Amino acid sequence: MEIELAVRPYQRRFVKPLHTAHGLWTWREGLLVRLRDSRERVGYGEIAPIPWFGSEALEEALSFCNAQDKKWQAETVPDGLPATQFGVGCALAELVKEDFCAGYEPVIPGDSFANANICGLLPAGETALDLASQRLAQGHRTLKWKIGVHAITDEIRWLERLTEKLPSHIQLRLDANGGLSIDQAEQWLATCDRINADPQMAAIEHLEQPLPPDRLGAMQEMSKRYRTAIALDESVATVAQLEQCWAQGWRGVMVVKPAIAGSPQRLQAFCHTHRPRLVFSSAFETGVGRRAALAVASRCATTPAPALGFGTQGWFADDWDTLTAAELWNRL
Ligand SMILES: [Mg+2]
Repeated sequence: MEIELAVRPYQRRFVKPLHTAHGLWTWREGLLVRLRDSRERVGYGEIAPIPWFGSEALEEALSFCNAQDKKWQAETVPDGLPATQFGVGCALAELVKEDFCAGYEPVIPGDSFANANICGLLPAGETALDLASQRLAQGHRTLKWKIGVHAITDEIRWLERLTEKLPSHIQLRLDANGGLSIDQAEQWLATCDRINADPQMAAIEHLEQPLPPDRLGAMQEMSKRYRTAIALDESVATVAQLEQCWAQGWRGVMVVKPAIAGSPQRLQAFCHTHRPRLVFSSAFETGVGRRAALAVASRCATTPAPALGFGTQGWFADDWDTLTAAELWNRL
């Protein structure tokens, strides 16, 4: 059967540029994929790369897609293009009605029932203290705060104030993006253990990626000495890396961004075989990739499922979150 692969590039502007380890992120760029077969069946997908997080660059995804003629074959997307594998894999699943990446209810922005299962984001620094109550009012029960941005003594002081201020049933995730030294990571873990020992204070759910990806052994060793969980994120950008860390003995939490992890089928197979403790997270994709990523998350989830790292709606200066795949395709 012949399948035509077409792509349309998109650009979305963040309401406020994001601070990343790579600098300021102002525009989110990606591709919408449309597959169409000779019976006029159609499937949409999204390629939303984050090259500094281990995926291919947008140009690589685009040149792969442009090189495919009408005799495209699903199995030809190479492992070096994980975001493309995801986008094309989901479009193909939709086209053949495998329903693999579909069927998950879109989350309505501001819906506090839905937000109870979604991790709300706090800005780095002291402003988190002001914004936290707003996130709780939006219905979030888990909040994530970036650390390793300001002086550690200031950040630890702010964390203590934050956990005193928040109700005790609220959970906090701390994300260091691999930016701590071993000494700093130990200081954070000791602080988290102390906070978690106090039932009056909000709990720290985990410390995310304290050290760079090449320090897996050190993180494994630390995870044995502290009670607060360590979660891998940058270490496990793709399914291949999830499999590697698992093979090296990591049994702690791992954060997965399905949109850049590679083949959704391979991710599901890994989850069903090993039942890893996964936290699913957004890659700042459009509604097309978001619905597909949430569908994958719902199929791979363990119970009780940790809050979804998808608190990214309303971060773009457009109305795309309300559009269907076909509507967005026609706008591009
Ligand atoms: Mg992270």
